[in-house]
Amino acid sequence: MTVRVTAAVLENYDTPFHLEELELEEPQAGEVLVKIIASGICHTDGLAQHADLPFPTPGVLGHEGAGIVERVGEGVTSVLPGDAVVIGWPWCGECEHCITGNPRYCDQLGPLLAGGGRMNGTTSLSRNGQKIHSHFFGQSSFSTYAIANESSLVKAPKGIAVEKLGPLACGISTGAGAVFNALRPGLGSTLVVYGTGAVGLAAIMAAKNTGASKIIGVDLHDARLELAKKYGATHVINAGRCNPVEEIMKICGRHADFALECTGNIKVVRQAIDSVGMLGTVCLIGGAPAGAEFTADHLTTLWGKRIIGMLGGESTSKKLIAGLLELNAQGRFPYDELLVEFPLEKINEALAASYSGEVLKPVLRMPH
Ligand SMILES: [Zn+2]
Ligand SMILES: [Zn+2]
Repeated sequence: MTVRVTAAVLENYDTPFHLEELELEEPQAGEVLVKIIASGICHTDGLAQHADLPFPTPGVLGHEGAGIVERVGEGVTSVLPGDAVVIGWPWCGECEHCITGNPRYCDQLGPLLAGGGRMNGTTSLSRNGQKIHSHFFGQSSFSTYAIANESSLVKAPKGIAVEKLGPLACGISTGAGAVFNALRPGLGSTLVVYGTGAVGLAAIMAAKNTGASKIIGVDLHDARLELAKKYGATHVINAGRCNPVEEIMKICGRHADFALECTGNIKVVRQAIDSVGMLGTVCLIGGAPAGAEFTADHLTTLWGKRIIGMLGGESTSKKLIAGLLELNAQGRFPYDELLVEFPLEKINEALAASYSGEVLKPVLRMPH
């Protein structure tokens, strides 16, 4: 038995997505069939489209899916048909990092995110008997239905607008989690956010919920900097018009305590590293092209400086998404104001609008 789905297929790298009908398997033991209501688009989808993340083609991308449980496989007990769910990051549940509470750094993360199918090599999607690569981030949610592991699902509260939940699975959680889980700015500390797109704005919204006294947004677009101010930045810098590191020194009277790099642009990575001083921490979360390398000044790095990388906001999908939804309901984390809906068939336009900066966070609505 298979389910007919409409999905956006990536046939080859560097080509546009096209919509096609595919067959999706029924859920196996431990798996859940989710009727996708909407899926966010994250820059990682664009990285995979251009082979900067090695997901095999032909395949279906999409890793910010939210929807309704349609059917469950054998042994699934934590969700039932009809439950609203967000599909979080997959994790093996058995390796050293998974069992010590760090599933974002699961030893099997590479194959789980981008292996192109289940861990046993099978795919859940096919086209007239031909294998189509699936399980991108354990979901492949640019599709009307997706198969995900029970362990990656996060149940949403009853009555919530499911179409707004997908971006909490990756981009929004990454920005907010970098602040809440990795940097944890204390009272009176200073934080710089490089890149005020959706991820950076989520970080700024999170920082507003901390004791940070100076929250500095850096970008090249004035319109985005206006949004940064609206959502909690106390200062903004247009890096196209000045040297941001010098400007930060003026604003803080010294180096900043924390810098968050959301652009993946190597020149900006260096600026972020140079923005923090003694005992400062720089957190890198922007996705750079495959093979990119960065440099740092050796002497000033010895000053107790920490350069850390971070994936997916750390913690667990369940904890992050539940926490952010509560803040959202209280008006303290208005991430949903950044979302712009597109129908699935406009996927290429949606991605282009995200890259041009015209749209902060595109969300694809599935045709049902
Ligand atoms: Zn693991
Ligand atoms: Zn993502």
